Amino acid sequence: MNLVTAQEINERIAAAKQKKIKVYPCRNLRASNIGHPCERFLYLLLTRWEEQQPHDVGLQNVFDLGNTLETHTINNLKEAGYEVITPTQWSFQINDPLITGREDLRIKDENGELIPVEVKGISPFEFSKLNTVEDFLHSKRYYIRQYPAQLLVYLYHFAKMYGFFALTNKLTGETKMIRMDFDWDMADGLLKKAERIYKAIEYKKEPDAVEDMAMCDGCKLAHICGIHRAIEPDVELDGELNDLINQKYDLKKYADQYAEVDSAIKSKVGEREKVITGDYLVQRKCIQKKSYMVPERTEYRLQIQKI
Ligand code: SF4
Repeated sequence: MNLVTAQEINERIAAAKQKKIKVYPCRNLRASNIGHPCERFLYLLLTRWEEQQPHDVGLQNVFDLGNTLETHTINNLKEAGYEVITPTQWSFQINDPLITGREDLRIKDENGELIPVEVKGISPFEFSKLNTVEDFLHSKRYYIRQYPAQLLVYLYHFAKMYGFFALTNKLTGETKMIRMDFDWDMADGLLKKAERIYKAIEYKKEPDAVEDMAMCDGCKLAHICGIHRAIEPDVELDGELNDLINQKYDLKKYADQYAEVDSAIKSKVGEREKVITGDYLVQRKCIQKKSYMVPERTEYRLQIQKI
């Protein structure tokens, strides 16, 4: 009798994920990408979308997990007594400049008005850090910085005064809502950005590269971007430092995991004073921190970028 091995199953799972990876056409701006900080990227995406580097199996897993979280988030809202509307066909388009979109869902407020809700599955670390729209806009992660633009396009098109992000913690399943009010200045900025990009396409003039070089690391259009950022001429080659930086990045994933698990532990303990887990006794202690003034000083920070 042939017994199936775990490795065979794992290989089939990975192969099935691999099959799902596709590069889809992108011929116009969308609510989901108009907030991307690099206009050159958006220009290339619309004109040469078929040359994008496909994402990997790891990212496909993240996307699939995110999709399942939408159902979980809807259930959380329904349990709380909200009427949730999830139309099967909710695509729309703004015509001038052309921006298409598709809402996730709406909830009914006390006046019976249907309020747009954008669902995002988020790591425990980001979950605890994101509490206002400003937190999104100042995030270190560019894809989080572009979320407000997405919701704002929905608010603009459907003439809504406000909407919500429904953030669901990928580790604990907890959902929290963050309200976003319509902001005309921000909407105007997005429409002007869209006009600039379409104009650049019309005149075949690639926009300048984004200033934040960190964005280029991992950009799926970097190979056709044509921007080669020069290294300052006084840079010295240092192999030992190179090894240390490699080591730092190898260890980083463990530091991130540590921070995520630590934050999940804190949120699971909540306000309980003592919890026995089986192997551990967890006690929550109150510590008063004294305020103190930080003396004025000059600090230096290292910015490390992959060449
Ligand atoms: S490599 Fe950098 S500058 Fe070029 S498209 Fe990507 S993000 Fe923009």
